[in-house]
Amino acid sequence: MKVIILGAGSAYGCPMIFNSWRNANPQDERNYRTRPSIYVEIDGKKIVVDTGPEFREQINKNKITDIDAVLLTHPHYDHIAGLPELTRASVVLEHNIQVFANQETFADLEKSYGFMMKSIEGSILSWHKIPDKGEFDVCGVKVKTFQVPHHHWHCSAFRFQDMSYVTDWEDISPEGIDILQGTKTLLIECNNGLYPEKNGHSDLENVKKLAERISPQRVILTHLSARVDYKETSRRLPQNFELAYDGMEINI
Ligand SMILES: [Zn+2]
Ligand SMILES: [Zn+2]
Repeated sequence: MKVIILGAGSAYGCPMIFNSWRNANPQDERNYRTRPSIYVEIDGKKIVVDTGPEFREQINKNKITDIDAVLLTHPHYDHIAGLPELTRASVVLEHNIQVFANQETFADLEKSYGFMMKSIEGSILSWHKIPDKGEFDVCGVKVKTFQVPHHHWHCSAFRFQDMSYVTDWEDISPEGIDILQGTKTLLIECNNGLYPEKNGHSDLENVKKLAERISPQRVILTHLSARVDYKETSRRLPQNFELAYDGMEINI
């Protein structure tokens, strides 16, 4: 399995608008972060999780030439704003793109992007509702899912074989822990970095507590806000933890 971090940033990216860098050092290019998304190549299938506002640039910059499917975690702007690019993407690729989301996300998509659910300009998109919890099939690839609480909302977490992607979370249920057990590579939101805050997101202490329960070999922190400076934060991480950065490639 190959994973590319298309975006390691939080909802506001880094730098934020008006070149606001907060704690992040502008001289370190690993601090330049677009909105959160990953590309997963598994069993010959090419899957993107979340399509934020920089989706088109992320695909082009990382020289990705094809995708089979898109999985959506929840309907916040930083995860879905690039979704309309899919209408053109399926025309350029000349094949169908499968889109997967749970009922709660679908209800929101129908309000914001209902026009995409009809065929426009020859685009071929197929829409699939996935369960809140359990296993589903993405072009022959088995994916497990569960919900994590996030603000007033919930977010779908995904497990692909022994890699799990948990974004936008502030807590994990016992059911979630069960699904994560055995995960070797945990790719997980750590929006607040070293600064705990009750904002629907997570920080290093939360991630450490979770990692103690599931013992992954490698923990990669992503969805990082501008409070997280790559070098300064990396120095203070446990031995098997590291920070994600845009364009990072992970071979599993
Ligand atoms: Zn987010
Ligand atoms: Zn969110």
